[in-house]
Amino acid sequence: MKPNANVFSNGKLTVTYEPNCCIHAELCARQLSDVFRQSVIPWIDLDGAKSKKIIKQIKKCPSGALQYFMNQQQEVA
Ligand code: SF4
Repeated sequence: MKPNANVFSNGKLTVTYEPNCCIHAELCARQLSDVFRQSVIPWIDLDGAKSKKIIKQIKKCPSGALQYFMNQQQEVA
């Protein structure tokens, strides 16, 4: 497996996805489909919404498959 295949960044925010944890509840795709896309590769597009909105959605992930961290100390837009 490629080590960085499930790491996404928009410069400010980095999002990681662990497929082995995902329970495929599709909460992310249903609630924020501009970012978490079902039929497009790469499936996570961090340009689809503001970082603050993406973080809010990641916090709702029931399995913990989605995680995030800020690349630098700065205000979230
Ligand atoms: S919300 Fe989390 S558990 Fe549900 S499909 Fe998305 S990544 Fe998987």
